[in-house]
Formats: sequence, C-alpha cells, structure tokens
Amino acid sequence: MLKPIRLLPSQLIDQIAAGEVVERPASVAKELIENSLDAGAGRIDIDVEQGGIKRLRVRDDGHGIPAAELSLALSRHATSKIVELSDLEGVASLGFRGEALPSIASVSRLTLTSRVRGADLAWQVQNDGAADFDQPRPVAHPDGTTVEIRDLFFNVPARRKFLRTAKTELGHLEQVARCFALAQPGIALSLTHQGRVLFDLPAATDAAAIRQRLADLLGSGFVEQALEIDEQAGDLSLRGWVVRPAFSRSQGDRQFFFVNGRLVRDRLVAHAVRQAFKDVLHHGRHPAYLLHLAIPPAWVDVNVHPAKQEVRFRDGRQVHDFLNRALSRRLAEGAALGMGAPTL
Ligand code: ADP
Ligand code: MG
Repeated sequence: MLKPIRLLPSQLIDQIAAGEVVERPASVAKELIENSLDAGAGRIDIDVEQGGIKRLRVRDDGHGIPAAELSLALSRHATSKIVELSDLEGVASLGFRGEALPSIASVSRLTLTSRVRGADLAWQVQNDGAADFDQPRPVAHPDGTTVEIRDLFFNVPARRKFLRTAKTELGHLEQVARCFALAQPGIALSLTHQGRVLFDLPAATDAAAIRQRLADLLGSGFVEQALEIDEQAGDLSLRGWVVRPAFSRSQGDRQFFFVNGRLVRDRLVAHAVRQAFKDVLHHGRHPAYLLHLAIPPAWVDVNVHPAKQEVRFRDGRQVHDFLNRALSRRLAEGAALGMGAPTL
C-alpha cells in the first residue's frame, strides 16, 4: 500500500541519529570524555553503575557551559566548535557535529550540570528522552561540567536488547577510558564502578610519570621493551613507542594509533606499520605500539564517520611513507642495539 511521506518527529530523528554513535555505555563514555577534553579539562572522573547501563557519570573541570546555552547543548546540530564550512577543514577539536548530547539524551535520562569557571552558580537541565526540557535550575557544583546518564536505551527496547551483561559493558567502557588515559597522559583520569575505584591516574607531567602511566595501563613489559620514537619530517611528526619485535604479541591488543589525539583505526596506517614490521616479525605475531601522529588539521578529514574512528588523509602516500620510514629506521636501530637496556 502506498504510504504518505512524512517528516519525522525530532525525537525520532535524534533516536535514529543515536544509532550511529550510541551503541553501548562505552560509546557514551567516549563522546562525553571527548567533550571534556574539548573543554580543556585537566581532570576527568568517570563513575558508573551496572557497567554504565544503569548510570554513567562523567565529571570534568573544563571551561563549563553558560546557563543560557545548556538547553542548546542538548539540541541537535548545536555546537560551539565550528561556525562555518572552512572551520571544518581545519578542525582541531575532537567533536564538531553537535550530535552526541542530543543523541544520547534521546535514548536515556540525561542530567547536564555545569558551572562556568569563576561563575557564582552552577546550572542544571534534565531530559528524559523527551523532545523538550525544563528551564535550567541553580544547583551546587564545582567549576566544570557533569553529564549523568541513567537507564540507557530505557525507551528503545530494541537497542536495549543488544546490551550485554554489566561485566561485559564495563569491560568495553574500561577499554575506552584506558585508551583516553594513554592518549592524554597529562590529564588526571579516574574510573569508579559501583563505588570501587578501578583506576585513578594522576596527571603525568614528566617522562618518568608518563612511563609509570604506560606501565600501569599496558604492563611493565611494554615499557621495558619499548623503543621510543620521535621523528619529524616537515609538518608531520610521529612520537611514541614501538615494542621490540622479540616482544610481539599473539594478539593485536596493544596497538594504539592517535592522529592529533584521536584514536583511529585506519587501513593505510595499519598497512604502513605492518610493512615496517614485515621483516622482523614472525608470521602470526602482532606488533605492540602506541604512536601519536601530529599532522596539520587541514591535511586530514575526520568527517568520514559519525564516531570519527576513520580518517581520510589528503595525501595518503605521504603519510604512509613517513610512517613506514620512521618505524623501519627505528626498528633497525633497535635491532642493532640488541637486547640492551630499554631506551625509554
Ligand atoms: P560537539 O562536541 O560535536 O560540539 P556535543 O553534542 O557533544 O557536540 O556537545 C554540544 C556542545 O555542548 C559542545 O559544542 C560544547 O559547547 C558543549 N559541551 C558538551 N560537553 C561539554 C563539556 N563537558 N564541557 C563544556 N562544554 C561542553
Ligand atoms: Mg561532542
């Protein structure tokens, strides 16, 4: 039967959009942590119940949101990070789509509380999956922002069914939190589950502290066997660590590649790394690495995927060759040094 074309109600539009970015508590945590980082936070505390299904709270000490903008922050396509198309080409923030908060709000009960640095009062708005919300009300809260999500997918049973046990969801969430802790060693980060502190990492400001954080998160073996990378070619720079080939792993679970602070899973990057390790790694073994590529924002398009895990390089060949060269050289040097003292 022919059905009439209708414009969807805005809440349904948000819920559909949520399908792209909100898969599970871990993806909510990712979006909220990114917002905290974009707000210049020095400390981020994550506190969850039931693996984040029942409650997920992210608090930061960032610049905050003015009371007059709180409702706007929960509105679709509202962002403070870009103004026009040309901004998108050089975007340096982790977010810019203005979709995370409204998407999350449409599939959960969300409370947003914020105090702009130095302001007298904090303000709070609540939204329980409905299209509109109440006026902000004044509350007590330190400088910064807290986003609390309760009952994820309470109004979308089809999505709720896909959630796993609290333990599994917590595992995913912990992975996300650890990943940000690796990406941003200068930021204090904690994760608490049902009142139990899973980790509480102080800001790492010097080399020794950064090494300690790596050891905490990846194991002391990683740190002991890591070769430090610090390469620069024109506007590209690569910093981080690769583990000596002799300490490769049977799983590819220690592979972190950040592009301008954003974790990406990119085929071109993976290929460049694999090539560099090709001659030094046994078949079936996986290299371990944590690498930061810094590249002018205009040279990389991050607007490829809603969750922004994929990127497109303007000159993929150049990036590939740079990575490959930097890693191959370091691995060759590492081999020449033999198994001596770690160079970290
Ligand atoms: P985006 O990050 O793409 O801009 P979001 O929906 O994630 O979109 O957030 C909307 C806006 O709300 C942001 O642009 C920002 O201005 C504000 N915001 C969200 N979270 C925070 C936070 N933790 N601290 C300060 N501002 C925030
Ligand atoms: Mg965001």
